[in-house]
Amino acid sequence: MIEFRIVEIFESLQGEGYNTGMPAVFIRFAGCNLNCAWCDTNFRQFTRFTVDALMTKVREYKSKNIIITGGEPTMVKALPELLVPLKNAGYFIAIESNGLGNIDPLIDYIALSPKFCYRSHYRKIAQPTANEVRIVAENHIDFIPFCQYIETHIQAKHYYLSPCEKDGVFNMFDTIKLLGQINENRINNKWLLSVQSHKFADIE
Ligand code: SF4
Repeated sequence: MIEFRIVEIFESLQGEGYNTGMPAVFIRFAGCNLNCAWCDTNFRQFTRFTVDALMTKVREYKSKNIIITGGEPTMVKALPELLVPLKNAGYFIAIESNGLGNIDPLIDYIALSPKFCYRSHYRKIAQPTANEVRIVAENHIDFIPFCQYIETHIQAKHYYLSPCEKDGVFNMFDTIKLLGQINENRINNKWLLSVQSHKFADIE
């Protein structure tokens, strides 16, 4: 029997990106293939859920939107076993991924967050299309070329820079400065700011 390793399930509002404010049930899977220094997710502690137990839990919530997150959910090989019943039950399914794995076609909305600190991992692009791309801003000489590389190799409708938070401090100045630089000499700004607004709204 398939069992998923789940860190947490909760209902909240999407705090970042294009769908900011969207009510959703977040399903956070354990495990990640990266180890970012500023990661704020404890993806090593989990509870095991069968598909039926997960569906029962999801149905306890009001929202018909699901956000599959982690950790890194593309590492979950059995994910389609959950996606099929979610789709059959009429849920809209979004995923948040670091972009190093392939995204299942049953997913309705793809948010990719390539990690600059692991830029060499993106020499080969696993998922060349997305609805949105969000990159955490880092003040480094190679950061803008990395964003330009990602913009060229991952076709998305929306591109965002997000400030990096360490111990409650956001690198806001660096982020907006980098935003200005990456949009320089464009008629329409392609990259926009995305803040983890849930951290200010005091929600999960
Ligand atoms: S990819 Fe995401 S979950 Fe994994 S270590 Fe980096 S920030 Fe944490």
